[in-house]
Amino acid sequence: MAEAPQRGEQSFRGIPVSAGVCRGRILVIDGSRPSIGKRTLSDEQLQEEINRLERALVQTRHQILEVQRRVSEGMGAAEGSIFDAHLLVLEDRTLLDEVIRMIQTQKVNAEYAFHSVAERYATTLAAIEDDYLRERATDMRDVTTRVLNNLLGLEEELNLRHLKEPCIIISHDLTPSNTAQLDKRNVLGFGTDVGSKTSHTAIMARSLRIPAIVGLKDASAKLESGQYVLLDGFNGVIIINPTDQTLFEYGQLIKKQVSLEEKLRDIQLKPAVTLDGQRVFLSANIESPKDSEAVKLAGAEGVGLFRTEYLFINRDLPPSEEQQYEAYREAAQALKPLPVVIRTLDLGGDKFLAHLPLPREMNPFLGWRAIRFCLQEEDIFRAQLRAILRASAEGNVKMMYPMISGLDELTQANALVERYKAELRSEKIAFDEQMEIGAMIETPSAVIVADSLAKRLKFFSIGTNDLIKYSLAVDRMNEKIAHLYEPTHPAIVRLLKATIDAAHHHKIWVSVCGEMASDPVFAPLLLGLGVDELSAAPPLVAPVKFLIRRLKIAEARELAEFALSCESAGEILARCQELARQVAPSLFETK
Ligand code: PEP
Ligand code: MG
Repeated sequence: MAEAPQRGEQSFRGIPVSAGVCRGRILVIDGSRPSIGKRTLSDEQLQEEINRLERALVQTRHQILEVQRRVSEGMGAAEGSIFDAHLLVLEDRTLLDEVIRMIQTQKVNAEYAFHSVAERYATTLAAIEDDYLRERATDMRDVTTRVLNNLLGLEEELNLRHLKEPCIIISHDLTPSNTAQLDKRNVLGFGTDVGSKTSHTAIMARSLRIPAIVGLKDASAKLESGQYVLLDGFNGVIIINPTDQTLFEYGQLIKKQVSLEEKLRDIQLKPAVTLDGQRVFLSANIESPKDSEAVKLAGAEGVGLFRTEYLFINRDLPPSEEQQYEAYREAAQALKPLPVVIRTLDLGGDKFLAHLPLPREMNPFLGWRAIRFCLQEEDIFRAQLRAILRASAEGNVKMMYPMISGLDELTQANALVERYKAELRSEKIAFDEQMEIGAMIETPSAVIVADSLAKRLKFFSIGTNDLIKYSLAVDRMNEKIAHLYEPTHPAIVRLLKATIDAAHHHKIWVSVCGEMASDPVFAPLLLGLGVDELSAAPPLVAPVKFLIRRLKIAEARELAEFALSCESAGEILARCQELARQVAPSLFETK
C-alpha cells in the first residue's frame, strides 16, 4: 500500500517478523520462474525424457541436502530441518507418478509436465485458509524451481551469496532456499510481498537476526533497486526517501539498540541474580553439539534442553549408538562442568524423520510420539539410552523423558535405564551411576499426578509449548484459534503452580524450557511461582538475564500471587507486561 506522493517520503506497511532497524539501498529481486515451453515428443523419445527427469530429481536432492547441511551448520539443526519438507516433495510418489503419466500419455517434455502438475498442487494448497498448508505451497514452488532449473541446465536464478555491497532485499517472495543464501554481512534486511509470521522464511530471518517484514502486498512491483530506504522490523514499515526528521528519530532508536546490545554483552559473564539476591539458574536450549559455542557466548549456565530429534533428522538411517555417543559426549565435554540435560527422542507431532515414516494419524499430536514411540521401538531407545549413559562419564549429563502422561510410562522407561546400566556394567563401560533423571511436564495428566512422578525423579522440566497446547486444546499454527493460545490463561498459571509445589514438596528442582522461558515478559511470573531454572533459546538468554538482574523476587512473587487469584488471562498478561517494562524498559523500546 504505497501512500501517494511520488517524491519525498513514502511508506509501505507489512507484518513485522524479525526485529531491528536498518537503512540502505534496496535491491529488488525478480523471483520469476524460468519460462517453460511445451514440446511434443516422439514415442522413442519418451523413455529418455523420463530418465532426464529422474536425473534432475537426483541432482535436486543433492542440492537440497547441501543447502540443508549448510543451514544446519550455520544456523542450527532446527532451521536445517525446514528442508525436510522439500525432500518430501521429491519423494511424493503420487506427484511423480502423475508427472511421468503426463509425459507418457500426452508425449510432452519433462519440464512442462513437472511444472503443470506441481503448480496445480501448489495452487490448491495456497488457496486453503491455513498457514501451515500455505507454507507447503511455498515449499512445493521452491522445489519446483530447482527441478526446472536443473532440467533446463540453468544456474540457481538468485545468487544472494555474492552481493557486492550491503543492501536491503525486496522481493515478491523469498523461498527458504533463497533465505538460506543470505549473507548477513551484505544483507541488511529484507521485505517480501507475501508471507506470515510463522512462515519458514520468517523463522530463518529471526535466527539470522536480520530485520524483516513480510506481507508488503505490492511493494516489489512499486519499489526500484537503488532507492534509499529505512526498514523498521519492529513496526513493519519500510520508509522510502526518509526525511531528515525520520532519520533523526530512527537514529535515536538505532542508538538505543546499540546501547542495549552493549549492556547485554556486559552481563554475559555475570550471574542471573535478582536485586534482592535470589539466584536463578539460566540455561539454554540446543539442537546439536555444535550449538555449545552459542551457549557459552550467550552467557548461559549449561543446557536445559538438548532436543535430540535433530540428530535423527537430515539423514538416511537413524544414528547408531556410537554416533549418538559422539554427539552427546561432544556437548558434555564442551560445556563441562556445566550441566547438559539431554532429552530422549521426541519424535512425532510435527517432527518427522525421512527414514522412519510414521503411519498417518488422525491426531498426530495425540498419537504415537515421543516416549510412547520409544517404549515400543526398543532398539532405537536402547541405542539412545546407552549413548546418553556413556556420555555421562564425560561431563555433567542429565537426562529427561518427553511427553510423560502417567506413572506407567515413567516406570517402564526407568526400568529400561536400569537394564542398560546393568549391560554397561557387565561390559565394563563407564557411566555416571548418579546421573540425574527428570521428566518433561507437558501434559495436563502429568501435572495431576506430579506428586507420584516427583517421588521417582530428580527434576521436572516444564514444556510450556505442549502444556499450553494440550491444556487449552489449542493448536497455535491454526490462525483461526491462535488467539486462544494464552500462556497467561488462569488454568496454565494454576498448572504451573501445582507442578512447582509437587516438585518442591519432594525436594526436586523445576525448570521451564518451553518458549515462555525465552520471553522476558514471563520471567517474573515464572520466578514468582517458584521456578528454579529457565532454559531459553541462546539469543534470548541475555535479555532474560538482563531483566532478572533488575527485578526483585518480592515483586515477582506479588505478581504470581495476583495471577493465582485472577480470573482473566488478559489481566494477568497486562500485569506481566507492566512489571517487565517497569524493571527493564530498554528491552521494550521499539519507537
Ligand atoms: C515444550 O513442549 O515446551 C518443549 C520444550 O518441547 P518441544 O517444543 O520440543 O515440543
Ligand atoms: Mg514438547
